Amino acid sequence: MKTKIGLEIHLELKTKSKMFCSCKNDYNQEDDANTNICPICLGYPGTLPSVNRKAIEYAIMLSQALNCNINSSIQFYRKNYYYPDLPKGYQISQYKLGSVGYNGYLYTELYGGKKIAIDRVSLEEDTARSIQMENEVLLDFNRAGIPLIEIVTKPDMESSKEAVKFLENLRLTVQYLKISDANMEKGHMRVDINVSVENNERVEIKNVNSIREVENALEYEINYQIEEIKKGRRIKRTTKMWDDYLKITREMRRKESEEDYRYFPEPDIPSIDISEYRFLVKTPFDVYNELISLNVNREYAEIIVRDMRLCNYFYEFLENSGDAVVGSNLLVNILKSFDTLPSVREFAKLSFFMKENKIPPHIARQKLLEMKENLNVDEILKNIEVISESEIENIVKSLIERYPEKFFEYKSGKQGLIGFFIGEAKKINSKIDPKAFREVFEKISQNINLL
Ligand SMILES: [Zn+2]
Repeated sequence: MKTKIGLEIHLELKTKSKMFCSCKNDYNQEDDANTNICPICLGYPGTLPSVNRKAIEYAIMLSQALNCNINSSIQFYRKNYYYPDLPKGYQISQYKLGSVGYNGYLYTELYGGKKIAIDRVSLEEDTARSIQMENEVLLDFNRAGIPLIEIVTKPDMESSKEAVKFLENLRLTVQYLKISDANMEKGHMRVDINVSVENNERVEIKNVNSIREVENALEYEINYQIEEIKKGRRIKRTTKMWDDYLKITREMRRKESEEDYRYFPEPDIPSIDISEYRFLVKTPFDVYNELISLNVNREYAEIIVRDMRLCNYFYEFLENSGDAVVGSNLLVNILKSFDTLPSVREFAKLSFFMKENKIPPHIARQKLLEMKENLNVDEILKNIEVISESEIENIVKSLIERYPEKFFEYKSGKQGLIGFFIGEAKKINSKIDPKAFREVFEKISQNINLL
């Protein structure tokens, strides 16, 4: 059965202060409860909000990265509802027309894949954090007024896997822009899911707090709906929550229609002209394409782009004239597992000498594993007995003289015998590099004609 999935993502921004007042944005919840509060974010009557410029800039940056059109001016709206975590009785939000960005898209794969349409990117304020105790609810207003970006997709995703890919790429994009850590465990990124099967009514699943749980919730809900439809039951439009302990979705309440919020333009904030604001944004997709253009293989490029630690290190390595092909290979296959990475300069130097064939790959790998973060290229060079090409030539010639039959077989097409000659060469000089030996061997053998 055909499934349609749309997502609404709320993203807490890493600004210094809150959205409409100068209170500290205690983004990682380090401070005591209710210490970063003031009359504005507590919703006292007679207070006036003032807009956080950085938050608007971040929303523009994200809109650009998500390939959105950007409105020339934005407008805030009051979304009216009452809830204990909302002291004003309304949330300052944006309505469809006043959003920062609209009609964008994001790909499911770094190399492209499926285009998921984005309906809009808008700004609003977070509500207070409510903590459910046994017989009471505690409220922490430190979170009230933290800038949020809301990203709404079109119902373009058709499986839980696609939703996961979309969310992973969105999270990575946000991290590249440095506008939020998008750490779902800390509530920086929260996901609401809309899912419908075979054009039945859609069901909303609220506040799922990890990408893995989004996948679980979707799989559960899609199966549930399919079973209901098979039994001939009607799917009602409902709002559910995901119980990540029992791994089931549970009904919360009937969905209020949008009119219930009685949106109207926020009278205390005039519309804001943002037509002059555009930024240089670099997305993970840009970085991926850049690495491909440097001949990094696709698999390595993907691993590097998806790991910010490796990616930052790799860019520093490139700035130090490191060789992209040699470096990406060692980074993914060896350095990735290190807790501490070696100095970028040493690593760049290593790649240079490898490129110049001064340090053979097998020695480089072995030394990297031995020295780890204490990589010292001069030390490696000191201990490498560089065997000159003429020395290798002498060894090749002596081996051909010693094993004429083997050489004859080699020349007649038994190419695999090169392994035999490499083995014999190593008996003469154990430090000989197989690759260098092979090159010299092939060159000399081409110049010998069999009678
Ligand atoms: Zn405040």
